[in-house]
Amino acid sequence: MRALRLVSPGKIEIQDVPIPEIAPDEVLVRVGGAGLCHSDLHVLHAPEFPVLTLGHETSGWVASLGADVTGFAEGDPVLVYLVWACGRCRPCVEGRDNVCVNQGGRLGMPPCPGLGPDGGMAEFIKVKARYLEPLGALDVASAAPLADAGLTPMHAINGARHRLTPGATAVVVGVGGLGHMGLQILAATTGVRIIAVDSSEQKLDLAREHGAHETLLSDGGTAEAILAGTSGYGADAVFDFVGIQPTVDLATKVIAPDGALRFVGLGGGSFPYAADSLTTPLPWGVDVRRSYGGTRADQRQVLDLARLGAISVETKTYSLDDGVQAFTDLEAGQVPGRAVIVP
Ligand code: NAD
Ligand code: ZN
Repeated sequence: MRALRLVSPGKIEIQDVPIPEIAPDEVLVRVGGAGLCHSDLHVLHAPEFPVLTLGHETSGWVASLGADVTGFAEGDPVLVYLVWACGRCRPCVEGRDNVCVNQGGRLGMPPCPGLGPDGGMAEFIKVKARYLEPLGALDVASAAPLADAGLTPMHAINGARHRLTPGATAVVVGVGGLGHMGLQILAATTGVRIIAVDSSEQKLDLAREHGAHETLLSDGGTAEAILAGTSGYGADAVFDFVGIQPTVDLATKVIAPDGALRFVGLGGGSFPYAADSLTTPLPWGVDVRRSYGGTRADQRQVLDLARLGAISVETKTYSLDDGVQAFTDLEAGQVPGRAVIVP
């Protein structure tokens, strides 16, 4: 089969590889869509990473079943859940499987396809049956990004619900794959006023289509505009889906007292904190989360919202042969919503 493989730092190519053989508890999925996440660009440019098939947002149809698998049949449309957690450790049984103990230490993350095991940018992927979610009637290709671009904002938002009360203000920084889903989830599940921030006018157009009440270009005056629009008090929640120094600084400058500061983007910015009243840039009561992926419960909620028609992924599709072009377009900021590779 053909697969889009990371072969060395900065280099991806289409290769011919064997169709994976499945174990008794695994399912072979014929890929119907593989979303391209900005994290794939971080991986592409990482100094060291094993050779592997990329793609951690995958949907498709069951092609064959391992001998012990029950509950699925050939042809069933499925989504591959991102977090391949153990399911048995304390965090897992508490419903915090996105921080499973089986993650290679305090700073690691549970295994996920396309960032360790081979991912979905291929004709087929093998997956343990317990990591599959039935898609039902959802469109298969455009559902793929629900596995991360949907899941990850849902988790960040679910962890900030105590601040997302009617009358509150939420700021979404970065209206890309994750951000345009975050806007829709906020609009569908809260009564907050939503301010979207991006460095691109086109992304702000997309933000207005997907639930933003106000939009701001990210520049030197953004923090002042948000503060002026909240009587100087700041935003009750800020979701930073970029994570570069200017956006971390913006988030820190506009968060309100008791606010929920949620860092999702992995752009390399660092967060300033000083445990004293004189030099810390933080108001009292702010809670900060370095938000990773999402739990199985978050994934179910995302799928249910999509089934209701309350959220949907804006997609730009590419064939597997054009997969390298998709990376180039994403890097150039030319993908509105999410690029999805359809093999
Ligand atoms: P994307 O490329 O689709 O979107 C990024 C958006 O940020 C674009 O709209 C871009 O115009 C905007 N942007 C760039 N610079 C900006 C600035 N200075 N101010 C405001 N907006 C700016 O990326 P994505 O796939 O949505 O991923 C976003 C980030 O989240 C990446 O760093 C990715 O690695 C990370 N990520 C984290 C997790 C997690 O679990 N924490 C999961 C998935 C992705
Ligand atoms: Zn991702």
